[in-house]
Amino acid sequence: MTTLTSCKQETKSTEDSIDAKVKTLLSKMTLEEKIGQMNQYNGFWDVTGPTPSTGDAAKKYEDLRKGYVGSMLNVRGVENVRAVQKIAVEESRLGIPLIIGFDLIHGYKTLSPIPLAESASWDLDAIKHAAEVAALEASAAGINWTFAPMVDISRDARWGRVMEGAGEDPYLGSLIAQARVHGFQGDDLSKPNTLAACAKHFAGYGFVEGGKEYNTVDVGTSTLYNVVFPPFKAAVDADVKTFMNAFNLLNGIPSTGNTFLQRNILKGTWDFKGFVVSDWASIEEMRKHGFAKDMKQAAEIAANAGCDMDMESDAYVIELAALVKEGKVSEAVIDEAVSRILKVKYELGLFDDPYKYCDEEREKSVVGSQDIQNAVLDMAKKSIVLLKNENQLLPLKKQGQNIAVIGKLAQDKTSPLGSWRLAADNGTAVSFLEGMKAYPDNTITFAKGADVTAEEPSFTKEIKINTTDKSGFDDAIKTAKQADVVVMVLGEHAFESGEARSRTKLGLPGVQQELLEAVFAVNKNMVLVLNNGRPLTIPWAAEHVPAIVEAWQLGTQSGNAIAQVLYGDYNPSGKLPVTFPRTVGQVPMFYNHNQTGRPTPKNPGDVFWSHYIDVENTPLYPFGFGLSYTTFEYSNLEVSKSGDNSFKVSFDLKNTGAIAGKETAQVYIRDLVASVVRPVKELKGFKQVTLEPGETKNITITLTDKELGFFDNDGNYLVEPGEFKIFVGGSSDTELEVSITL
Ligand code: BGC
Repeated sequence: MTTLTSCKQETKSTEDSIDAKVKTLLSKMTLEEKIGQMNQYNGFWDVTGPTPSTGDAAKKYEDLRKGYVGSMLNVRGVENVRAVQKIAVEESRLGIPLIIGFDLIHGYKTLSPIPLAESASWDLDAIKHAAEVAALEASAAGINWTFAPMVDISRDARWGRVMEGAGEDPYLGSLIAQARVHGFQGDDLSKPNTLAACAKHFAGYGFVEGGKEYNTVDVGTSTLYNVVFPPFKAAVDADVKTFMNAFNLLNGIPSTGNTFLQRNILKGTWDFKGFVVSDWASIEEMRKHGFAKDMKQAAEIAANAGCDMDMESDAYVIELAALVKEGKVSEAVIDEAVSRILKVKYELGLFDDPYKYCDEEREKSVVGSQDIQNAVLDMAKKSIVLLKNENQLLPLKKQGQNIAVIGKLAQDKTSPLGSWRLAADNGTAVSFLEGMKAYPDNTITFAKGADVTAEEPSFTKEIKINTTDKSGFDDAIKTAKQADVVVMVLGEHAFESGEARSRTKLGLPGVQQELLEAVFAVNKNMVLVLNNGRPLTIPWAAEHVPAIVEAWQLGTQSGNAIAQVLYGDYNPSGKLPVTFPRTVGQVPMFYNHNQTGRPTPKNPGDVFWSHYIDVENTPLYPFGFGLSYTTFEYSNLEVSKSGDNSFKVSFDLKNTGAIAGKETAQVYIRDLVASVVRPVKELKGFKQVTLEPGETKNITITLTDKELGFFDNDGNYLVEPGEFKIFVGGSSDTELEVSITL
């Protein structure tokens, strides 16, 4: 008790003193210096080279000297960060340090799996640790602010940025958002190995129409409050220090100029104390949207709507001073934005030591260290999802096997790194072939079979997908014929997902499907290893190929992780955080959909029910699905009341197979009748349990008001009495069910 009180007091006094320091500093600043804090520049020039004397870069240098820059992004490496920080601190009038931002999405130089893959682990401690490790490495390279986590829920696999999020579910997405924020920010932001995190993109970006990047978003209030907002609110609850707004319109209003989002919800209802940065040039984009007539009006709208920092529009630095003088933006708006930004800088300890992230020795010993390699390998293994394993084809035998490995991605040392890896060099991943060679008692023969894309993709180049070259097929078929087992490594190149990588087809790109079928025709003893950044539609493979492993893009240690899983040194435990549809026409397909008035046929042969006539109306693989090399059995589901609106859900989980394994037991609810229609199922709890063969554990998960309620269309949280169904199982296609009354 005493400790709690004194700890609270201590936090309060630190906050008070930071607020006081912010106030004092603010009182010394000119209007231009204040606006400078709201300005963020991209560090595209070589900061350690000679100072440019003309052009854009020269102006940016000049602004740095004048104190007209509050932050830079994409400056990385201690030498570069030190160089820009030195100008800000030693040459500007007030010496206010820069906050250095970077897209640390799944690691800095040593990469963890892409965020969607990490989410497939459902392992919150591991996900938190992955963010901690990323922060450790990036902070050693001078960075103190990451533009992550992306907490956008998405139900549309056509959208390339599905790879960057936590999938389709707001409950899982909220827990993962918190784990990542806690991981990046640690328990003390002033330590040099932690970073400020950024919840992005506020809001609705995952719902772009047609899954087409940068497109408009129309989302109804029920979805907004119950699906889009929860992970953002969870990030605020985890004390995330910054938010990023979004490129998209939300119901006709650009997110960047959206007062409802930024002032009413975020800074109002949720009482967020940090600052909001725009997305890249998204202030300027309001002109192109037809929301502002020119850059000046765009700056006015964004500042008044609560966007505190301008990333790369140059709108604030050029236009805000005049807008203040004309009374169109009040000085109070500026002061509020600047106070928020300065507060985070104080919390990071940048005023105590602006060079605390600039330690060359630390950079040398931390970046790429063995500890970091071990951590990303562990995360990679936990991210793999076993989708199919007929006849126990997996795990592979470790000796005496002739294994054919087919597919260009098997030897790729770049694609496994995934998209969003601005600091990692090409070719630094352990390829699948290299991982397999760590098991020397089998013979591995490789054949490329086919390319994935027509030319080697890059982050900034348009992708040429349509390769038609089948010249490698014969060799692949010959190699497969002689093998005991064929491992096909197929899927997407990393740069086919990520920003600006929307697709209308979700199958295997290029001629890979044809390759798969041609090889299968000569050897059916086949394992398909998928590399991809989004759900793929692979109904043929799901029907024919006996073993399928979802290996996403797993980062630097990819090959080792997959090989260890294929050989059974790690028993796979991942579960899908997204639904895999059968065909792209089913998109958006997600487990927590609303019921229609005509959910199922009344009589056999009935036509008038909600369905497609040309496909089986179920997902290929449901949300939450994933197998293990062992099997689990759920039984004895009981629900008992444990207080007002509080229920204990308990059940037995038994390992019915021959080896130890980890299962993620999932609890879903359905509120049968409500004033706003509730989805057919909603995930509301899960537990990961490791069981020895034959072992049974009783598992209890408690449901309270927090899990049983929902938001109405005015944003009020309601818990309504009535009947609920509780479902339990190893995926959203649950196994046990019971009813309760609230
Ligand atoms: C992306 C953001 C990213 C920013 C800075 C934008 O294009 O949408 O997520 O943080 O660029 O790189």
